[in-house]
Amino acid sequence: MIRNMIVRTFLLCVLLAASWTSAADLQINAKRMEDRIAALSQFGKNPEGGVSRVAFSDADIQGRNYIQTLMKAAKLQVRIDTAGNIIGRREGKDPSLAPILFGSHIDSVPSGGNYDGDVGVIAALECIEVLNESNQITQHPLEVVVFSDEEGGLVGSRSMAGEFHESAMEIRSHSGKTIREGIRAIGGDPDRINEAQRSKRSITAYLELHIEQGGILDSEKINIGVVEGIVGINWWDVTIEGFANHAGTTPMNQRKDALLAAAKLIMAVNQVATSIPGRQVATVGRIKAEPGAPNVIPGKVIMSLEIRDLSAEKIQTVYDKIQNEAKKIEQESGTKIQFAALDTTAVPAPTDERVRKIISEAAKELGLTSRLMPSGAGHDAQDIAGIAPIGMIFVPSVGGISHSPKEFTRTEDMANGAMVLLHSILRLDSQSLP
Ligand SMILES: [Zn+2]
Repeated sequence: MIRNMIVRTFLLCVLLAASWTSAADLQINAKRMEDRIAALSQFGKNPEGGVSRVAFSDADIQGRNYIQTLMKAAKLQVRIDTAGNIIGRREGKDPSLAPILFGSHIDSVPSGGNYDGDVGVIAALECIEVLNESNQITQHPLEVVVFSDEEGGLVGSRSMAGEFHESAMEIRSHSGKTIREGIRAIGGDPDRINEAQRSKRSITAYLELHIEQGGILDSEKINIGVVEGIVGINWWDVTIEGFANHAGTTPMNQRKDALLAAAKLIMAVNQVATSIPGRQVATVGRIKAEPGAPNVIPGKVIMSLEIRDLSAEKIQTVYDKIQNEAKKIEQESGTKIQFAALDTTAVPAPTDERVRKIISEAAKELGLTSRLMPSGAGHDAQDIAGIAPIGMIFVPSVGGISHSPKEFTRTEDMANGAMVLLHSILRLDSQSLP
C-alpha cells in the first residue's frame, strides 16, 4: 500500500516535471471553441445551416462585434486599422520584439459554411485564453488579427502588405456597398488605407490555422496539414472566332464552329494538366457561345482559363502546352483562338521553411500525424508573405467540402489545430527565427 503510494507520488512528480518543461499542461478547451463557432454561426445564418456573412454586411458587422467582445474579455487591447482589420494585442515581456501575428477572417462567401476562416479566428482567441489561464507571458507581443473582406479580394491582408490597389475601391461587394463604403462601415478609413500597411520586420511571423477546404487530410486520416505554400493563380479570357452561319444549310465540312473548337480546347486543357507530373490544376469554368441560338452555328466563344500551381514556372509550362494545342485546333477547325491574360494573377506564396519546421515539430510533439501539402485556395497569408515569414496549419474538412453550408470540421480537429497553433507560437517565441 505505502509502496504503491510512493510509486504514485513519484510518477506524479515525473509528470509535473515533464509538463513544466514541455508546456504540455496547456490545454485547449475544445468545448469553448465549439460553442464559440456555434455562436458566431448565428450571425448571417442561412436556412441551409451555414452562413451568408459576406464582408461589410450587417451580419459581418455583428460577427465582428462578437469577436471584439471576446477579445476585450480576454484582456486584449483592441483596435481597428484603417483597412478595417481587427487587431487584438497582448503585450510580451520584451517590448523591443516585433509581435507574432496570428488569425484569419470571419467573412464568408454567399451561402458559405461555419468553418472557413472562423476556425482560425476562434483558435487564435483560444490560444490567448489558454495563455491567460496559465498566467503565461510570452517574450514577444502577440497580435490576434481578423482580416477584413477576405472572400471579396483579400482587402485587409493586401492593405497590410501594401498591395491593395486604389482601383479596387469602387468595386461593388456582395453586401451592395462598394469596398470604399464597406471599409468605412466596419470602422476603417478608406482615405487613409495606406496607414494599415506594416513594414517588413514589423511582424516576427504570421501564423494562420485554416480548414483544408479539400479532402486530402480527411481521406488520408491525417490530423494536420503543414502548408508548403499557397498556389499562384493565373486567369485568361480565351476568345475563339469561327463563323456564324445557318445551322440547316451549311454542310458539316464547311463549318467554322467556334463552340466545337472550344470543346476540343477544353479537352486539351484537361489532358495537358494531367499529362505532366505534379499537382498543377487547370480549369475552364465559364463559357459563352454567340449568337447562342439552336439554329445558328456558333461564330464566337469566350471562355475562361485558370491555372494554379505552387510554381510560377509550372504555370507557364502548362500554359505554353495549352497554347500549342490551341494552334493545332485552330488549323483543324479554321477558327482563330486568342488568349488574353487578366489582371487578377496571384503569385505563388511559399510558406517560410523555418516556420514550416516549427509547425511540423509541434504536431509531432503533440502526437499528431501531419503531412506537407499545398494550399489550392487563396488565403490572407499569401499577401502577408510579402512582409513577414508565414506559416499555415490545415485541419481536415469532412468530405473535402467548403464554400458550402455543408462545410464541416470536427471539434477534435479544431482543437488539434489550435494546440498546434499554440505550440508553434510558443516555439516561435522561444527560438527566434535564424
Ligand atoms: Zn478562408
